Amino acid sequence: MQKKINVTSPLMPRLERYEELLEKIWDSKWLTNDGAMCKELKNKLEEKFDDKVELFVNGHMALDTLIKTMDLRGEVITTPYTFASTTHAIVMNGLKPVFCDINENDYTIDVEKIEALITENTCAILPVHVYGCPCDVDRIEEIARKHNLKVIYDAAHAFGVKKDGKSITAYGDASMFSFHATKVFNTVEGGAVVYSDEKLTNGLRYNRNFGIENAESIVAVGYNAKMNELCAAMGICNLEIVDDAIKRRKEIVYKYCECFSEIRGIKMLDYERLEKRGVEYNFSYMPIEVTDELGISRNELFEQLKEQGIIARKYFYPLIVDYECYREEFKNYDLPIAKRVAENILTIPLYATLTNEEVERICNIIKKICVD
Ligand SMILES: *Cc1c(COP(=O)(O)O)cnc(C)c1O
Repeated sequence: MQKKINVTSPLMPRLERYEELLEKIWDSKWLTNDGAMCKELKNKLEEKFDDKVELFVNGHMALDTLIKTMDLRGEVITTPYTFASTTHAIVMNGLKPVFCDINENDYTIDVEKIEALITENTCAILPVHVYGCPCDVDRIEEIARKHNLKVIYDAAHAFGVKKDGKSITAYGDASMFSFHATKVFNTVEGGAVVYSDEKLTNGLRYNRNFGIENAESIVAVGYNAKMNELCAAMGICNLEIVDDAIKRRKEIVYKYCECFSEIRGIKMLDYERLEKRGVEYNFSYMPIEVTDELGISRNELFEQLKEQGIIARKYFYPLIVDYECYREEFKNYDLPIAKRVAENILTIPLYATLTNEEVERICNIIKKICVD
């Protein structure tokens, strides 16, 4: 049997480049607590996003700390079609998630269904730029203004994405990134909050580090959610190569598109539509949606791929409202589109070091399974 192909593989710099920075860390004997590496990565990201950046130990703690710092109360309108983290961060802060269905074009929150969910207890909207596809940020801003709501974006998938020439982080009150190994850009584990309101700065910093203002002054009941120097160094190295990685991802996605255009029953993201919306995309995932026309189910396709050494991922399945820990509480939700998508979606291998031969092998296997 041929080599197994995993759904993802992390972006990694040349080892020698990382070693250069490790030597600096060794010389400094400074491993964490805002050392030179964290400062440098923060500066570089602030330049990239043209906004303020705070670094975190991971994306989840970035989001949790952000919500905590914004001191919200009540209900948060969000999407059920996301990773566990989004909802967990809301719940951990004593807030109630209110789930809005998604749209079937790009799987982001359906902006036409948001207003019906707003009550006097609603304090914020927390949508996800899922697969790196920007939400309808303009409409969300309009709704938020009209009802005086905060907007926090889970931008875990959206590193490097732009809309109308601006970084995707220019929208909403703040955005969270994940720099987990599986994301387009990684610091092994890591995350960030990108924001513009300087009133958030102290709160984010205190809440990230036990509420410590200085050695003798503890001003908040905070977490320990700091990034360390080894992770920041990885980030500095990966930042040097991430643009090339995104270019390569784009090539691969276009190869997949060409191949799947011959198969009836496989729906892909509409990359032309994204472009028409003014989106500079990051090709972070390759989701394919199995429709009735295909003749086999998503689960069958998943299993057959696995038998041939191609590891896909049911991402996102199950829906948040169907998790064991949430099922009972959220059983009354009717989310037809999200449900349908979760039953039929599969993300297939996509990463910058995937070779053309491997892409062809995956295409041929899928064609054989689906057309024969
Ligand atoms: C990865 C991810 C997170 C959490 O990020 P971590 O860095 O793994 O903590 C949050 N939301 C979404 C949508 C994600 O994909």
